Amino acid sequence: MAERPSIAEDVKREVRRRCGFGCVLCGSPIYQYDHMHDWALGGAHDAENLTLLCASHHEEKTKKLLPVGKVRQANATPFNRSRESSPVHALHYFGDSFEVILGSLKFTQRLNSEGACSLINVNSETLLGLRLEEGNLLVTLKLYDAQGSPLVLITENELTYKTASWDVEFVGRALTIREGERKIQARVGFGPPRLLNLQRGIFMHRGLRMEISSDGVRVPDHNISLHGGLWTGVYGHGLVAYDKHHGGENFDDAFMIMPVDE
Ligand SMILES: [Zn+2]
Repeated sequence: MAERPSIAEDVKREVRRRCGFGCVLCGSPIYQYDHMHDWALGGAHDAENLTLLCASHHEEKTKKLLPVGKVRQANATPFNRSRESSPVHALHYFGDSFEVILGSLKFTQRLNSEGACSLINVNSETLLGLRLEEGNLLVTLKLYDAQGSPLVLITENELTYKTASWDVEFVGRALTIREGERKIQARVGFGPPRLLNLQRGIFMHRGLRMEISSDGVRVPDHNISLHGGLWTGVYGHGLVAYDKHHGGENFDDAFMIMPVDE
């Protein structure tokens, strides 16, 4: 049998978007590109013949427990296309220490005696937090687009993302969201049990915005930026930013406070 050529990137993207960035039957973000009419049997190598199936549904199709007709039906009305966000995907973080990379900054630490850290705190809202419960390290992460609408949400290890994006791609252990060709809005690498690598993203709460890029961390409207460094220790709060209308909370155990004045 001739070796199967790889699928062109723009074809894959067309398929992803049409399918709502998830398995057409269950919406799972961990999927593969499936030829509905089998490539080995002469099926075309183009977007119309391709769909997204998770490993479980793909296996069912291979075993003929899932008829092709049913896959075609799901392909015509993909699970995620009728929903604003993807179904929950569980992340498997555990243990009482973590390593978080924010662009060029790296935080390596053990959780405090309360077993919790609000690593990114903007106007008193935890936008990146870690909490220990029954041995599991529960990660919370909220990333937004430039207009302040949520793109990626992780609520205590339960990952969801917006399905109406220009492109969402989960490759290996990294989730990338784009608003156009080479325009990355968010990129998160997952390395359980303890590593989270945030390469790009926007945190926002009550009008205050913090941006992560390969440069590091910036609060752009107020000319605050941090570049590089390895930070170890035990902090209940990591990077805290608040404007004059907010704050007031006790941030004694913060790694760094960035009070923002108008
Ligand atoms: Zn599925």
